[in-house]
Amino acid sequence: MQDLSLQDIMYLPGVGPQKADVLRKEINVSTWEDILYYFPYKYIDRSKIFKIREIDGNMPYIQLKGKIYGYATLGEGRKKRLTATFYDDTGDIDLIWFQHVKSIQNHYKQGIEYILFGKPTYFNGNIQVAHPELETEDRFFNGEVGIQGQYNTTERMKSAFLYSRALQKLIVIVLENIKEKLPETLPDYLIRKAHVISLDEALRNIHLPLSSSALRQAQFRLKFEELFYLQLQLLRVTKYREKRIGGFRFTRVGDYFNRFYSQNLSFELTGAQKRVVREIRRDMNSGRQMNRLLQGDVGSGKTLVALLSILIAIDNGFQATLMAPTEILATQHFETISQLVDGLGIEVRLLTGSTRKKERERLLPDVQAGKIQLLIGTHALIEDTVSFDNLGLVVIDEQHRFGVAQRAKLWKKNKFPPHILVMTATPIPRTLAMTLYGDLDVSVIDELPPGRKPVRTLHIYSAKRKNLYASVRRQLREGRQVYIVYPLIEESEAMDLKNLLEGFETTKNIFPEYKVSMVHGKMKPVEKDAEMQRFVSGETRIMVATTVIEVGINVPNASVMIIENAERFGLSQLHQLRGRVGRGADQSFCILITEYELSENTRRRIAIMTETNDGFVIAEEDLKLRGPGDIDGTQQSGIAFNLRIADLTKDGQVLSLARELALEILEDDPLLQKPENGLLNKQLEKLNRQRNMGWFMIS
Ligand code: ADP
Ligand code: MG
Repeated sequence: MQDLSLQDIMYLPGVGPQKADVLRKEINVSTWEDILYYFPYKYIDRSKIFKIREIDGNMPYIQLKGKIYGYATLGEGRKKRLTATFYDDTGDIDLIWFQHVKSIQNHYKQGIEYILFGKPTYFNGNIQVAHPELETEDRFFNGEVGIQGQYNTTERMKSAFLYSRALQKLIVIVLENIKEKLPETLPDYLIRKAHVISLDEALRNIHLPLSSSALRQAQFRLKFEELFYLQLQLLRVTKYREKRIGGFRFTRVGDYFNRFYSQNLSFELTGAQKRVVREIRRDMNSGRQMNRLLQGDVGSGKTLVALLSILIAIDNGFQATLMAPTEILATQHFETISQLVDGLGIEVRLLTGSTRKKERERLLPDVQAGKIQLLIGTHALIEDTVSFDNLGLVVIDEQHRFGVAQRAKLWKKNKFPPHILVMTATPIPRTLAMTLYGDLDVSVIDELPPGRKPVRTLHIYSAKRKNLYASVRRQLREGRQVYIVYPLIEESEAMDLKNLLEGFETTKNIFPEYKVSMVHGKMKPVEKDAEMQRFVSGETRIMVATTVIEVGINVPNASVMIIENAERFGLSQLHQLRGRVGRGADQSFCILITEYELSENTRRRIAIMTETNDGFVIAEEDLKLRGPGDIDGTQQSGIAFNLRIADLTKDGQVLSLARELALEILEDDPLLQKPENGLLNKQLEKLNRQRNMGWFMIS
């Protein structure tokens, strides 16, 4: 069997050096194997050829059979375009090209019969097709095509006539040239267990489906394989770490923990908190390094769980550190925790970017000497100047602001890696968590402290906002506080800032009897903090702000969150903002204000927000609406989302199956040394080379 990854695409009939260059540069295809793994992004029914009389301008992509006449170039320079008429025995339509005007004219001859493929639209009352795909019938292989794959192509590819159809033809040539069956990439036993078809059958049918059921099976096989190897890789690293990297053993629950629990804690832990604390204790006493992700909705009490874990570390004679993404959040953690542990005699300090040099010079030696038991801070904690005597536990709050590389840097602060607890209030859908954090164990706090009333969310049109102010005033009279949030997006910064300032003025006019704060990202940190502080202390009763308050202050007395231009916020952002209220015992409200005109997508987002408070449901929906690439944390996490065929928003079940089977295999053969797993090893190596998956090793 020839090695397809060694067959240069350039020597394929119809390619040559120029096209080969375009293929390599545009879609990273340079070998036979590469092109076989360039899958269609969708399929269309090409079994039908329409008559021109039958079509209108509202149809999806269709096929016609006919001839071209009357090329004409219109316009000059950048507005230059090419038109022609396309006709059959029932009528004619217009064709139009905005690019490659000259080469098109030379390429497609008049008077020859073509199969046209394109999307008809109305223009000035006529039907027209822009940039149609044209094929002569004799080259229109695979006559009764039926379901046909469509391939993504770029502008540069199109100008080299590498349209979707042309790509497909190259693939057909490759497939015709492979006489034997394509070599299998999954072991036999796994193919049987997962009930998937062979790679040979899958690759042929993904490009040229023989039927829709054959296509479905091909998709399943290829998705499974992709997700399986991803999981196998992730889980293998985890297993490896479990075996090789030891962890400090925190055997004791001692004085600090017990005194805190019996004296300082004024409420009962929720069931979920207790369960998670048990999970963490078990991890930290297992002799292995803990790498745990703690997910829980805003206000679910993660900080407390973190503190209890920290106390266990201190009880065992270790130092701990808590890292937050912003200065405000770090400061707030510092204040809350200092209060909580009051009287226990624990040395807690704060280190942020604005810690004075003098203070630093006092602080750092104490940290190094082990005198400081808990150091709370921001990114400043990972600077090289910070070193510990015996760091036993690192807690990272709001994971999505920290990349994998930063986590790795914290590890290196010790000879022995400290236990790591990552907390996130952005619930991550299961499928994504498995893929992103396959190497982390996950704990979930899925229960709010008792007495919390779920926030009520309402949608109000901007024009109807008058009524709103009466209700807001009622809340203010009862002593509550109010947030009003405006969008501030970098691209339209000036406008947004203007809106915010206007909003600030309007608010002051509407509520002259109350003091109003304003905070935005363009303010100096000192001013911003001072203003936040005024609101936290209750001096100001209304906070007009941009999303800077998203991860930030905890004001249990705030009961109303008004979000202006709610259509401009993403789902998880809205959910995060809403989490700023509902932290006290009172009924809280979240008001989403929009204009009347809303896109389908926005309507959906608003509906979800008013229907549910469940962060996981929201995260799932967000993933569906936006796709995984846009979800917070995926970009910073350093993981390329270059899945070829699997779709994390839709293929949760395939992913679960892949994970289950990968786990089973690793349980039985952790190092993949058994002969039947030789292929798995080989394939992983190959994928690692190809996909540059080096990040697996550092997380
Ligand atoms: P998170 O970090 O998950 O957003 P926090 O830890 O900040 O949540 O907790 C939110 C508020 O709820 C805090 O004021 C905290 O003291 C309080 N809280 C936490 N756990 C409980 C509990 N079991 N019972 C009552 N109040 C709790
Ligand atoms: Mg928190």
